[in-house]
Amino acid sequence: MPSSDAASPGRRFTRRVEDFDCEHCGRHVRGNGYTNHCPACLHSKHVDVEPGDRAADCGGLMTPVAAGMERDAYFVVQRCGRCGHTRRNKTTARDATAEVLKYFGRPIPGR
Ligand SMILES: [Zn+2]
Ligand SMILES: [Zn+2]
Repeated sequence: MPSSDAASPGRRFTRRVEDFDCEHCGRHVRGNGYTNHCPACLHSKHVDVEPGDRAADCGGLMTPVAAGMERDAYFVVQRCGRCGHTRRNKTTARDATAEVLKYFGRPIPGR
């Protein structure tokens, strides 16, 4: 079997590029390997323990509950509707800023 990894030495982790349909607003989201939340409504699914590892078997809907700013980047805090797990998600340029700003000023869980 030929190795397809020979052309990319030094790769340290596997980018996962997965498209998905947002369970909240129904938008078809093109995955970019780094984020798995919906850029329109900022919801996602609870599938990661650490970002990108897909190690959680919960699968609940992660709902945005708060947002803030750290250095120059916005982040959104999401809470899983099934198990209550909360996590921070950095936003990206393609996320709807107006949607992020809606959650500013809300209490951030876990602090
Ligand atoms: Zn959505
Ligand atoms: Zn969960």
